[in-house]
Amino acid sequence: MAQIQKTKTRIVRRGADTTEKLTVDLCVAGAGCAGVMAALQAARLGRKVVLADASPLPGGQSVNSNIGLFCGLYSRTPDHFRYTYGIVSELLADLGAENALYYRDSGVTISVLYDDQALLRWIDRRLEEEGVIFLGGACLDRVEMEGRRLCSAEFLTRYGRVKIDAAAFVDATGDAALTYQAGLPCRVSDEGPVYGTQMITADQVDIRELPSDDQIRRCIVEKAGGYGVERHDGLVFSFPEKNRLIINMTHIETPLLPLKASEAAVRGRNRAERAYQFLKEQYPKAFRHAFIHSYGQTGIRQTRWILGKHQLLAQEIRDGVRFSDAVARTTWPIELHDTLENHQWEPFDNEHVHYVPFGAMVPPDADNLVAAGRCIDADLIALSSVRVMGPCMAMGMAAAHALDLAGNGSVHEIDITCLQERVRDNLYRCDPLSSDMQTISKQETEYDETETG
Ligand SMILES: Cc1cc2nc3c(=O)[nH]c(=O)nc-3n(C[C@H](O)[C@H](O)[C@H](O)COP(=O)(O)OP(=O)(O)OC[C@H]3O[C@@H](n4cnc5c(N)ncnc54)[C@H](O)[C@@H]3O)c2cc1C
Repeated sequence: MAQIQKTKTRIVRRGADTTEKLTVDLCVAGAGCAGVMAALQAARLGRKVVLADASPLPGGQSVNSNIGLFCGLYSRTPDHFRYTYGIVSELLADLGAENALYYRDSGVTISVLYDDQALLRWIDRRLEEEGVIFLGGACLDRVEMEGRRLCSAEFLTRYGRVKIDAAAFVDATGDAALTYQAGLPCRVSDEGPVYGTQMITADQVDIRELPSDDQIRRCIVEKAGGYGVERHDGLVFSFPEKNRLIINMTHIETPLLPLKASEAAVRGRNRAERAYQFLKEQYPKAFRHAFIHSYGQTGIRQTRWILGKHQLLAQEIRDGVRFSDAVARTTWPIELHDTLENHQWEPFDNEHVHYVPFGAMVPPDADNLVAAGRCIDADLIALSSVRVMGPCMAMGMAAAHALDLAGNGSVHEIDITCLQERVRDNLYRCDPLSSDMQTISKQETEYDETETG
């Protein structure tokens, strides 16, 4: 009889304090498109950076919520100038070279479909190359402040607690979680919820058998309600080379309460599945071999954001106010998802540009904290425009430069012209779309040029 061999094991018990500690120059909370750009930019400026996120994968919603479309990067003028440069130029060039981008002209606006897995790996590689420490699966638990300075942030991971001491902080959590945990004032909507969306990606869709995205949109508006689809103005975007359809047809609440948020997420997936069945019934040939490839994490638009030195107002973006402390620009329409059935869509004139002021990114009562992305201070309407990825990425880079300029001083005392000089391309440069790509897919636009962010 063969002898049974015991493998070696040992007994372990929880130690007294298992907190891992790290000291860095900059702690970026939230690894969405804004946080990633902030972290990469700061590392390039020679800073030691930790980028922490509740999700195990970096990229935030741009990777994990099946968004799949960069909006707000290009002007509406016939030449379609690009408005955001720096590391974003490298991102576009690299993904373009991998055939992971698809430029979409909806008649007036240019948006860029991207392969989210290619984006994930681009982020992984870049963080590694630039020496950014990525702390994944790390939920912000506690923030300490001394006077006007944040000094540490603690994150809870499945493997234990991590305490980060840092000289400076970026709040790129989308929900202003860092600012809120620091005890600083934040804003929430007093006018009912801004709805999120459970996006889905369907693969092996025979795109040739589908009418244009705009014709599908018209069909959704006319018929989806009759099929129990609550949102009546849903949208789809086709990525023909990948036989992929990105489906944005639901509205769901995105409460900041743990149990309610989880319940809403399931409701969102139920609604998304219903929307998919609707499309399948309308276009059986196109969906013959199709399947839902991924539901992704709940898409969250606007929840809680910082109270900044300046609140960006709808009128300021409608007027295209060029702030003396502007650090980012876009021409993306107002896009407020404030009812279950529909969203407000207010496009601007072709020549229109609006700006993000640095004042909207800084809480007045902290010297070493800058917010970037969808949690900057704006009213509901203004935020609904500047929260798309183009300006979010520009804000991330600007946040890193601002904190670099502040050093051990205050972000409220930096020389704004120096900051603007560093991000000057994102304020002034206008390269035509043709310099990014040679051919562009023109979508039929018999309906409207509505997109969505
Ligand atoms: C359904 C939907 C469709 C959209 N469509 C488009 C589109 O087509 N094009 C476009 O350009 N934009 C679109 N947008 C908007 C855009 O995707 C987001 O506004 C943008 O990606 C926000 O980037 P961000 O970096 O500010 O935040 P997010 O991408 O939201 O990243 C925030 C990160 O912070 C982390 N975080 C939050 N709280 C904590 C915490 N307590 N501890 C640790 N980590 C935390 C999150 O896990 C997340 O990874 C869409 C948004 C939604 C919801």
